[in-house]
Amino acid sequence: MNEKFIQKRLKKLTLFVAFISLVILLIGGLVSAALGRVLEESTETQMKSEVEQYKTYIFHQFDADFQTLHTLESFFDFSDSMDTDSFAQKLYDSNNQNHFIRMGFYSTSGTGIRATLNHSVELDIPVNTLPEVLQEIIQKAWDGEDAVSRIFYDETLQETVYAYSIPVYADNGQVAGALLASDSIEIFSDILNDQSALNGQGYIHMIGGNGDFLVRSESRAIKKDVKNIYEGTYFTEKEKTRLKSAISQESSCFSSFQYNGEDYKVFLDPVGINGWYLFCVNTTQQLNSTFYQIVLTTRMVFFGILLLIVLLVFYGYRILRQSNRQLRQIAYHDTLTGANNLAGFTQKVRDSLEKIKECSVVSMNIRQFKFINEIFGRDRADDLLRHMNQILRQNLSEREYYCRDSGDSFFLYLLETDHTRIQQRLDSIMNQISLYSLDTRHNYQILLYCGVAIRTGEESEDHTCEDLITHSIFALHTAKGNHQNSIWFYNLDLHKQEQLENYVESHMNQALKDQEFRLFLQPKFYLDSGNLEGAEALVRWTTQEGKTIFPDQFIPLFEKNGFCARLDLYMADQVCRQIREWIDSGIQPVPVSINQSKLLFYESDYVENLCKITEKYQIPPSLITLEILEGLALENVEELNTRIAQLQEKGFHISLDDFGSGYSTLNTLGSLHIDELKLDRGFLSELSLTHNDSQRVIIEEIISLTKKLYISTVAEGIETLESAELLKSMGCDLGQGYYYSRPLPAKEFTEKFLCPKSQKEPS
Ligand code: C2E
Ligand code: CA
Ligand code: CA
Repeated sequence: MNEKFIQKRLKKLTLFVAFISLVILLIGGLVSAALGRVLEESTETQMKSEVEQYKTYIFHQFDADFQTLHTLESFFDFSDSMDTDSFAQKLYDSNNQNHFIRMGFYSTSGTGIRATLNHSVELDIPVNTLPEVLQEIIQKAWDGEDAVSRIFYDETLQETVYAYSIPVYADNGQVAGALLASDSIEIFSDILNDQSALNGQGYIHMIGGNGDFLVRSESRAIKKDVKNIYEGTYFTEKEKTRLKSAISQESSCFSSFQYNGEDYKVFLDPVGINGWYLFCVNTTQQLNSTFYQIVLTTRMVFFGILLLIVLLVFYGYRILRQSNRQLRQIAYHDTLTGANNLAGFTQKVRDSLEKIKECSVVSMNIRQFKFINEIFGRDRADDLLRHMNQILRQNLSEREYYCRDSGDSFFLYLLETDHTRIQQRLDSIMNQISLYSLDTRHNYQILLYCGVAIRTGEESEDHTCEDLITHSIFALHTAKGNHQNSIWFYNLDLHKQEQLENYVESHMNQALKDQEFRLFLQPKFYLDSGNLEGAEALVRWTTQEGKTIFPDQFIPLFEKNGFCARLDLYMADQVCRQIREWIDSGIQPVPVSINQSKLLFYESDYVENLCKITEKYQIPPSLITLEILEGLALENVEELNTRIAQLQEKGFHISLDDFGSGYSTLNTLGSLHIDELKLDRGFLSELSLTHNDSQRVIIEEIISLTKKLYISTVAEGIETLESAELLKSMGCDLGQGYYYSRPLPAKEFTEKFLCPKSQKEPS
């Protein structure tokens, strides 16, 4: 799982969701805007039509009033000779019968009569004493026109009124005067207060050209003491200007004002008479409530969906991030130490290698870690690993990485290529790790070893992260086998090994036929008495050119390609032939150990084949010890024990070879039914290398266990008298090594150790 890849996916997902949200927001906005527009239009249409209807009511009122006046006119006799008193009486009577508050007749001669409701009749009133507004309409009537006056405050009536005038014609067809009727402006209140405006949810005022309220509906929003629409701060200055400009052009306009935090929509429309305007007010909220609810609901639904998406995305994103973090933690981290694991490490190194050409990869292990695990306990060993993790973290720079692969295997990625510098840094790191104290009883010093692979600028192309890791492991194996030096650098010489391997593989079959594989024997001695106990058979390959190839250079390869099984049987044959030769020559034979490869050991006819060989040479199988590698014990102990039992039944002895070099533990030792244990050479070199008792603790522990299990112990690789003495003091039974003798050709071995006259003390 690539972190970058996940981040990319997350980014894509976020963009996608953001896009979808935007689309939804846009659609929501468009739908809501469209609905809003429809709502607005419908509101306006409704307001317009309402105002239109009220205008019709007003005109009806005018028509009706003019009609009344014209009817009256036809009843009166307006001749020059008319009786003023009786005319005045008639006027008074008729005024009392209609809704006008005052009626008057003004003859073209310039004087008039007027009758006021519930008042006396006034005669001979000069026209020029009347209010100007009345003089204007009287003049219009004299000119033959019907007219309605502007609204004015009548001092005598103490009321705001308006008046109608119609011409009155004499018998000769000439205008004789003007018939006037005044009415209170309040007549329109009834119309405007009928509560039916905008389905009862709106109201209409009548205003004059200067913005004064002429007639105010009772269902108004704004306070009564406001006399003019421009008063106060209900309308903004901008709206006021708009309204004024509409009025100056006698055109209608929509506007809005705010009152008590609510928006009110306004429609201003000229009535068409005397500069009167209808001022229709409503709130959008109240208007078309069902429709408005739909718009509102639509908006809310869209907003809700968006909110939900955003929340879901946010929630999903968090969960994804969290689980991704957890997954990455699991996938890329080691649970014990919290350090990166190999996958996490490889990922980081690969990324870094894209930019950096020169670097090195170090493979770092702890010597004998499995025994630390067993002797000091898993918890202490785990603590040691955590300690190691901490030291590595402290010693690496920000752009350097490390990981724990498994067990005690750590890898480091350093931005260094200089050998000395790497050596210094690794020494310092290993020293800091060694400071960890496992136990207060033993002075066990922790030892580490490293394999280093360096990538220089020139070879950067060929060396991938995996190559560097492989090379560092390769160098680590060399470091493991070499106890003098704990840091090994991978180099090309190690590669020559590969060339040799090619030769080995292509020549092995022929070499076997040509008997190029030769039997060498290395003696084993009792440590306490110094007497010869037996020998180990070791193969040597002498090529036709006379060159000797050592087993380390071909055995691992033969194990891989399967040839080892054939070779081992061949060697068993050679050993038995040698023993037969000793017997036939009257030499007391000694037991010989033969190394057995894993492949051979599990072959179904293995025991049978071995027996065939011993039978062929008439050798008692008790003279043969089969050395098996500890790796075998790691797989199936039960199966291994079965095989061991079969061999022991035939008389063969079983020895566990190289104990301590691999992965087997004290536990494995306890569960295997072996006769002999061979301590790996590594133990000895470390024993002499360090002056602490770390190896001692382990060896003593092993020996004490083997004693309990009646297993004899062989120390391999004894090179000095001190080592021999030391091991003897620790209770080890047998010793084998250069101190006693190198492996010798069988003939030489026989002469040196078995012929009675040449038997002597080890040199
Ligand atoms: P091994 O079985 O552990 O054999 C002991 C190795 O240690 C031998 O290496 C021996 O020469 C070497 N040795 C003995 N004493 C000393 C000493 O004092 N110091 C040092 N530094 N080395 C010492 P050799 O003969 O090169 O064999 C290497 C390995 O090859 C053997 O290790 C064994 O695993 C394998 N091998 C050898 N012959 C055979 C064989 O016929 N069949 C199989 N399957 N494996 C073989
Ligand atoms: Ca061996
Ligand atoms: Ca060995």
